[in-house]
Amino acid sequence: MLDKDAVMNIFTGTGAVMRGHFLLTSGLHSDTYIQCARVLQYPEHTAQLVALIASAFKDERIDLVVGPAVGGILVAYEAGRQLNVPALFTEREDGVMTLRRGFEIPAGARVLVVEDVVTTGGSVVEVMNVVKERGAQVAGVGLLVDRSGGSIDFGVRKKAVLTLDVKTYSPEDCPLCRRGMRAVKPGSRGLK
Ligand SMILES: [Zn+2]
Repeated sequence: MLDKDAVMNIFTGTGAVMRGHFLLTSGLHSDTYIQCARVLQYPEHTAQLVALIASAFKDERIDLVVGPAVGGILVAYEAGRQLNVPALFTEREDGVMTLRRGFEIPAGARVLVVEDVVTTGGSVVEVMNVVKERGAQVAGVGLLVDRSGGSIDFGVRKKAVLTLDVKTYSPEDCPLCRRGMRAVKPGSRGLK
């Protein structure tokens, strides 16, 4: 099982977590940028990281795993594989989080909800509501990255593989700008 340093090395080594000075699509500046797809492109890393979630819930009698598209699909798949249970995903239809494709969550099922990265946890709460509406029970929440510094409370047990306290700033009030660092758009060419 990976220790904390090994986890961080995988996220930074794959570019899934980048430190620097970033211009986010929201217009805010940040000292950290997270792109989980960059770690999830490596099945072996995905398996190693999700093992920390699966092991945290292995004694919880999980019946199925569900995560929101797109980010939650691979995390759900790998968690389902390791827990030997089905893995489903939710999608938005006209803005509403829902189960499509004939997926079903049986009433009474114990469900693990997973996501790649959460900031406010809004998508996870929406998935939890889909689970509860079907009379099933949310047994826990598993996350690759909790960028709230761990402050989000879903009212159930939560396991985050990596917890980061990501600071965002308005451009007028950005300490990195004041230090004369140039903000770069994540994904720009030449970004290391
Ligand atoms: Zn700045």
